[in-house]
Amino acid sequence: MNGDQSTLGRCPECGSSIPSGWQLIEYEREDGADGVFAECPSCSEVVAPK
Ligand SMILES: [Zn+2]
Repeated sequence: MNGDQSTLGRCPECGSSIPSGWQLIEYEREDGADGVFAECPSCSEVVAPK
């Protein structure tokens, strides 16, 4: 089985992909899209994954 891990996106600080388990909160952006904040496992910053 090829477990395809879901990710939130990439850390804008260091470029690492952030697993969905690291999500902290979800919010609505000004343009109405969903956004999330997550802690980057690589650089320990709280970022909005891209
Ligand atoms: Zn990072």
